[in-house]
Amino acid sequence: MFINKEVFKASFLQRLEQTASVSFGNSTSRDQYHTLGLMVREYISTNWIASNEESRQGNHKKVYYLSIEFLLGRLLMSTLINLRIRDVVDEGLKDLGVELSDLEEAEADAGLGNGGLGRLAACFLDSMASLELPGHGYGIRYKHGLFEQKIIDGYQVELPEQWLRNGNVWEVRKADLAIEVPFWGDVKWVEQNGKLQFVHDHAETVLAVPFDIPVLGFNTDHVNTLRLWGAEPSKHYPLHKDFMQYKKETEQISEFLYPNDMSNDGKILRLKQQYFLVTASLKSIIRDFKKNHGDLYHFHEYVAIHINDTHPALAIPELMRILIDEEGMRWEEAWPIVTNTISYTNHTILSEALEKWSIDLFKPLFPRIYMIIEEINKRFCKELWDEYPGDWDRIEQMAIIAHGYVKMAHLSIVGSHSVNGVAKLHTEILKRREMSNFNEFYPYRFNNKTNGITHRRWLIQSNKGLADTISSAIGIGWITETEQMKKLLPFAADAAFQEEINQIKLNRKQELAALIHQRNNIVIDETSIFDVQIKRLHAYKRQLMNVLHIMHLYNRMKEDSSYRPHPRTFIFGAKAAPGYDFAKRVIKLIHSVAKIVNNDPLTKEYIKVVFLENYSVSLAEKIIPATNVSEQISTASKEASGTGNMKFMMNGAVTLGTLDGANVEIAELVGPENIFIFGLKANQVMQYERHGGYHSHDYYHNDRRIKQVVDQLTSGFFEDAYYDFEPIADSLLMENDQYFLLKDFASYQDSHERVAEAYADRKRWLEMSIHNIAQSGFFSSDRTVSEYAKDIWKIRPNR
Ligand SMILES: *Cc1c(COP(=O)(O)O)cnc(C)c1O
Repeated sequence: MFINKEVFKASFLQRLEQTASVSFGNSTSRDQYHTLGLMVREYISTNWIASNEESRQGNHKKVYYLSIEFLLGRLLMSTLINLRIRDVVDEGLKDLGVELSDLEEAEADAGLGNGGLGRLAACFLDSMASLELPGHGYGIRYKHGLFEQKIIDGYQVELPEQWLRNGNVWEVRKADLAIEVPFWGDVKWVEQNGKLQFVHDHAETVLAVPFDIPVLGFNTDHVNTLRLWGAEPSKHYPLHKDFMQYKKETEQISEFLYPNDMSNDGKILRLKQQYFLVTASLKSIIRDFKKNHGDLYHFHEYVAIHINDTHPALAIPELMRILIDEEGMRWEEAWPIVTNTISYTNHTILSEALEKWSIDLFKPLFPRIYMIIEEINKRFCKELWDEYPGDWDRIEQMAIIAHGYVKMAHLSIVGSHSVNGVAKLHTEILKRREMSNFNEFYPYRFNNKTNGITHRRWLIQSNKGLADTISSAIGIGWITETEQMKKLLPFAADAAFQEEINQIKLNRKQELAALIHQRNNIVIDETSIFDVQIKRLHAYKRQLMNVLHIMHLYNRMKEDSSYRPHPRTFIFGAKAAPGYDFAKRVIKLIHSVAKIVNNDPLTKEYIKVVFLENYSVSLAEKIIPATNVSEQISTASKEASGTGNMKFMMNGAVTLGTLDGANVEIAELVGPENIFIFGLKANQVMQYERHGGYHSHDYYHNDRRIKQVVDQLTSGFFEDAYYDFEPIADSLLMENDQYFLLKDFASYQDSHERVAEAYADRKRWLEMSIHNIAQSGFFSSDRTVSEYAKDIWKIRPNR
């Protein structure tokens, strides 16, 4: 049906009438999108079935990637590109007077994640399939993804997201493969064949129903699967309980994604979600395994299970439970199988974000799992005692269960064979500081895998013009081998190539300007510097520092009539966790500053501030190609890696950032002349945190610029928000500015000047931009996933 555009048009028209029951003339974009989606999924089916067969029969080792989040975004375009039928479809639809981009917009954005961690999982799926690696994702089919953000009078309001409202053409519900998941109840032991057996009694069971989504790679027949579990009432529901109550509690498990980016909340439900994901996934993995292999003694030779952060860490005790209680293994037999199967990625060193669960909550919910964790902890502490006799402090610090809590990171380290950080700096901090005790005890377990992004979505799909220009300069080899993008380096100073790059950026800026006009009713100057900070709103990411600097620019223009900078458009996009008061106030502040700056006749030609609401994957795809300056300004040591930084670099934006996360590696690759680095280094921040010595008051009193902007927060300068910003001012002064904004302010301001100066020199700027594109190949998630496959999972392509 996609052989050529005539065949495509004929089948499209026929299918449209069949599926939507409307004539073409009366059909909406949504009808058309739905029809096209169904056609594409049908087209994939043959390969999907073949891949599944091959995987069942073959004896290849496979990896299963467990993640509580998958921030997929839209799937239509990436699927068309991977199948290499985008052009046929595009031309066929054009003949019919339909724009493919309109159908693209009709697809809901699957936002089953909060931010970087969930987007990483989605990029990895794309890379695993493209590298023809047998790797499948397991997650939860949240009925409502991350909340939809509305801005009302400058304040964030959260609405439930509804991506499934019009169905999901990409998924297939597999009711026959559903799995029972038990909660609560109690543990009994019974004697069976002279052995003690544990049984979980009086449990409340819910049904986990798989919804499978095909995961295609670029230009390959290989198709992996993303299996998302939905919670439904079980036939074996607890008779003592009111059915409606039980149904409600059950469905809640896959109702909402937790919108809490860093810390944990909504405790019991969140914990239920974790066990639900883990149990259903393990049982399904083992069921498949048993079709080919008898017992589980060689499980780890054929199966790798990766846990994306600690949310799926219950896979460790659950696999122990299955091997011991169901397969009849001894502890000593089961434990090496578990640790050799499981590997773990750490995503944060913010101590408030390290997961821990109160035993009071945990134990009643999973009585048998809790027993197993106790045993793991007992044996681990014994090993510690043998190694460090008498060192109670160390044992207390490293224990899995301590002070009434289960520590999920400790469980994850002890129960896996590999622990990786997500950027060089982050891994070093884990090894040398935060987890140095564990690194000493398990010296070979820690390793680094610097994050990556799929260049197929973040360049080929979202910036076709740039991708085509790269191909015409250096050929198409870079598409499958992104390191070849370095071949662009000789073009960096080439005037003709610079002009092409300039034109592409300008086109994308015009498109974004049109979107901003349409959405925010703000007119922006397309030749201004597009300076962008889009990411979750968090104190450590320091959106506040960005806003304070904009306030300073404004003040300076008001005071000094000779100061008229190159026009700049500051663009923000960010969701704040619903309960995160500080973050929400910063959103309000951005709006209040925008209101003043954008409307003051003296400044509005020079500075515009734009907040684009409801930041999401599909919005990122529109903003990033239009960006000149990528703001990556986290307090050094706090951002594990960042992946936004990589997307911008690949699209020719120049980074203005601290030496944090993967910024360090970006700086190494492009060299100091092609990046703007400022501020404290990670070791300086950690030094202050340990030994003190930073007093934000000094910076407030000694730097007039700082005093002025901080005072404006509470002086009535913002007429629409008289008292809103007092807590922000307090965080900077009373609470001694935990994230070192005032400390870094001067060097941040100075870098902005350097940016403006560099931008004014068109040739120099374009040369910087091309350098960034050329060096971005390293950050393809194909590189990252290849490293995981080789070093951690020990899997090879299915060929
Ligand atoms: C890439 C991405 C992120 C992560 O951005 P960081 O700047 O690394 O925090 C978050 N949300 C969305 C929608 C993304 O595409």
